[in-house]
Amino acid sequence: MGEAKTHYEVIVVGAGVAGIYQIKRLLDLGVEATVLESAPDLGGTWYWNRYPGCRFDSESYTYGFSFSRELLDEWHWKERFSSQSENLRYLNYVADKFDLRKAMQFNCRVEAMRFNEARDLWHVKIADGRELTCRFVSLAIGLLSAPTMPRLEGIGDFKGRSFHTFYWPHEPVDLRAKKVAVIGTGATGIQLIGEIADKVGELTVFQRRPNWSAPLNNSAISEEEMADIRSRYDDIFAACALTPGSFLHGPDSRGFYEVTREERLAQWNKLYDEPGFGIWHANFREIFMDEAANAELSAYIADRIRTRVRDPKIAEKLIPRDHGFGVQRLPLETKYFEAYNRDNVHLVDIGETPLVRVTENGLRTSERDYEFDIIVYATGFDAITGAFDLIDISGIGGETLAEKWKQAPSTFLGLLIHGFPNLLMPTGPQSASASTNFPRGIEHNVNWCTNLLQYMWDRGYTRADATREAQERWTAHVAKMYEIMLMRKAKSWFTGYNSNVAGHEEGNVRYFLYNGGTPKFVAIANDVAAKAYQEIAFSSGERVDGQAATVSASA
Ligand SMILES: Cc1cc2nc3c(=O)[nH]c(=O)nc-3n(C[C@H](O)[C@H](O)[C@H](O)COP(=O)(O)OP(=O)(O)OC[C@H]3O[C@@H](n4cnc5c(N)ncnc54)[C@H](O)[C@@H]3O)c2cc1C
Repeated sequence: MGEAKTHYEVIVVGAGVAGIYQIKRLLDLGVEATVLESAPDLGGTWYWNRYPGCRFDSESYTYGFSFSRELLDEWHWKERFSSQSENLRYLNYVADKFDLRKAMQFNCRVEAMRFNEARDLWHVKIADGRELTCRFVSLAIGLLSAPTMPRLEGIGDFKGRSFHTFYWPHEPVDLRAKKVAVIGTGATGIQLIGEIADKVGELTVFQRRPNWSAPLNNSAISEEEMADIRSRYDDIFAACALTPGSFLHGPDSRGFYEVTREERLAQWNKLYDEPGFGIWHANFREIFMDEAANAELSAYIADRIRTRVRDPKIAEKLIPRDHGFGVQRLPLETKYFEAYNRDNVHLVDIGETPLVRVTENGLRTSERDYEFDIIVYATGFDAITGAFDLIDISGIGGETLAEKWKQAPSTFLGLLIHGFPNLLMPTGPQSASASTNFPRGIEHNVNWCTNLLQYMWDRGYTRADATREAQERWTAHVAKMYEIMLMRKAKSWFTGYNSNVAGHEEGNVRYFLYNGGTPKFVAIANDVAAKAYQEIAFSSGERVDGQAATVSASA
């Protein structure tokens, strides 16, 4: 598909939600563009993560694309929180409906990109040996797309089957009567454990630090309910646009201290038993900023865990002590805590007895050896910047992005990077997308990027570079917002912590997320566009001695 062509106006890297929407917008405009995707097919997150239990914790009908009325009318979300296979079917349906595959090239891992300053072109090197050129690159490579393995010796020695959840096999894995180890109790581990506990012979969970978690409360969506949802789509998307996280769950308008403790408990009882992120996003705002408010909620959730786990010792091990509820990404679960009431499920606290190595037959902790048939690494991702670090990207003056972001990423609106002209990021670090219901942020960001391109095409500009000052202001603004958030202290991917990634161990907080909420982010980004992108330096024409023929007066 288009593999003989070597030049495009736009190359989109990644065929997940963001890449799919970006190529749709470009094809609609008649732009010569292609998608390069390292996987054998489209779908991104929903192509890769095929582990049992993998599903949305966004309400399905708030996650789907909003850009086509016809698509909204045609698609029936079967569950409130739809599963990976259905989500992948949906993204394929979208691609086929709008004939997007013709502009996608699979098994194409981009390994390097170099900006040609004389010609305002990106040279894009693919692992198959080809080098393409383009004026603009949209890096739609995902924020949770670079899986990380634990730093353990002997991983290759294991004689049984083992895989990271990201690479869960495509064919069904027979777990019956098998001894299975799961390493990791983050969002993935929690979904997986709840799903497979009653389908395996023996399940041993290796937990380093417990995570807070709350029930998903999933249910089927009937034809009648779907018809009702379809009739309300405009209202649903409008409501999402008004909440900080782009979910239907908006914060409680009452102050934490304005209501009595009884009223708070009544509200938490209601939210805990409701579907989705309500207990996180529809809670009092103070739980994110006020230690005492957060501690009261954490104690409430801890009690809910105690009522669900029969063995009090296990219950205590499942209750986090090092961070409060909701200051890390909240996993939603189905029967997770009940899994530990089963005789075939065992919990090993590797905070107490650390994993020492993988052996031929299983795992060794500081205490003893365990034998397994299957080891599952639910050890998460080099989040936010991991996929960027895997591409050798060099911009103006040969500066590399890996070097520039070594300590922490710095961006303008999470959409552009100073010194790396014509490089767009529909889900970049420091944009609003990562802390929200992703597709809502993605649609906005892709539209913003596409409007920027249109602005340049209309004026004949060939280079756009966010100014250093604008980038510094934005990065300082993002950092400032962390100051009031309890999350700044958490060892989580919200702060760039990952003990399995060199340089991301404790101690260097990275300001990864924009915490101002979607409405504020959208207002700021749209204001930049409305004021003719004063924070971006535009220029056009071939360069002689580094000077462009035409330079805009921006910033
Ligand atoms: C298990 C799981 C559950 C999730 N659940 C939710 C949820 O309920 N709600 C929500 O809002 N978000 C959820 N997310 C976040 C999810 O990543 C986003 O919703 C969304 O799928 C992101 O789309 P994307 O296109 O930005 O990135 P991705 O879907 O990650 O796609 C990026 C693509 O880029 C490709 N790529 C990366 N590097 C290269 C390269 N060098 N060359 C070529 N191709 C490359 C990857 O192979 C991948 O296909 C979840 C994430 C995970 C991992």
